[in-house]
Amino acid sequence: VDDLGAQLIAAESAHVAHNYHPLPIVAARAEGVWVTDVEGKRYLDLLSAYSALNFGHGHPAILAAAREQLDRLTLTSRAFHNDKLGPFATALAQLCGKDLVLPMNTGAEAVETGIKVARAWGYRSKGIAPDAATIIVANGNFHGRTTTIVGFSDDPVAHDDFGPYAPGFVHVPYGDADAIAAAIDENTAAVLIEPIQGEAGVVIPPEGFLRRVRDICTENDVLLIADEIQSGLGRVGETFACDREGVVPDVYLLGKALGGGILPLSAVVANEDVLGVIRPGEHGSTFGGNPLATAVGLRVVEMLASGEFQTRAKALGEHLAQALQGLVGHGVTAVRVAGLWAGVDIDPAVGSGREIAEKLLARGVLVKDTHGQTIRIAPPLTIRATEIDWAIEQLRHALS
Ligand code: PLP
Repeated sequence: VDDLGAQLIAAESAHVAHNYHPLPIVAARAEGVWVTDVEGKRYLDLLSAYSALNFGHGHPAILAAAREQLDRLTLTSRAFHNDKLGPFATALAQLCGKDLVLPMNTGAEAVETGIKVARAWGYRSKGIAPDAATIIVANGNFHGRTTTIVGFSDDPVAHDDFGPYAPGFVHVPYGDADAIAAAIDENTAAVLIEPIQGEAGVVIPPEGFLRRVRDICTENDVLLIADEIQSGLGRVGETFACDREGVVPDVYLLGKALGGGILPLSAVVANEDVLGVIRPGEHGSTFGGNPLATAVGLRVVEMLASGEFQTRAKALGEHLAQALQGLVGHGVTAVRVAGLWAGVDIDPAVGSGREIAEKLLARGVLVKDTHGQTIRIAPPLTIRATEIDWAIEQLRHALS
């Protein structure tokens, strides 16, 4: 990093809490799949802000929706109606094949909302005894950073020293449907699951797992809550990762790309018999459903409704998978790919995930390591095949 970059990094490290350990690049602008730093160096973005930038930086249609709305109306709070929330919710409900949308802002808020909805449904609809409701979660999960959510994380870095933790969560191994069946009892309100575990390193469960979980939940009157915050909205070559197995959860949790890479927008989407249990005054958020975010979200949903991005992600994902497979045995021990989303396990003999990410940075490619030896690849869905090839070439060099 040159002088201006070094100064800006020093200012951050002096006055921003050290809850992250960013790679040493200071971004100043971006367009499409390319990010430019403060000194004018360009980088190919293979992280997409953890899939919040599925449509790339500054997609013209999304920017236009935001700009138009900025001049009209940005915030009402839910004390009043606004003219964007209804159209957004109608379009999103249709995309999900559900009745109702509850808008929030961040992913963690959508997860918290899903937990509240599942518990209220458990008491008011299923008839679980007061305060007895439990939710089954998976080992290796990542659902956000609030105190309840980190309480059921088994990652010590996310979890330790933030207790006391909220009770009511039961752990099972990820990808094990029998373990879910065995864990269910009369107090089980829901199974909360990532259809593909993102932060864990793009961990794809065995084929048929989601279908079996769907059946188990249906047979036992338990809600299936799919956290599609990172996996959904086109990333895997389908609208939702659940679509890979033709599974429809009772509750979708959405976030990240829903805000078009411009602002935070998340949502819980479910049918009336589930989301309808929440009554006026029981839940909300000052910014949740604000007209600026929902104008952007409506444009995002319209773009997804065309199917264009899902098709692109599927075709280019096959291209990416093939290229990455060629690296196995050459500094890579394993790859897992779903659409334009890949976990690449780095052979410790060539370095740590962080070291490879730093070498890629020097070569103009942005990725982020996760859990030591894994790097995650998640480019904007607008990336071109030639750009994927170039990135893989840089990775090949970084590994050698
Ligand atoms: N759920 C999943 C599956 C995620 O990957 C994330 C973030 O990485 C979250 C929830 C939390 O989202 P946010 O960071 O917007 O709170």
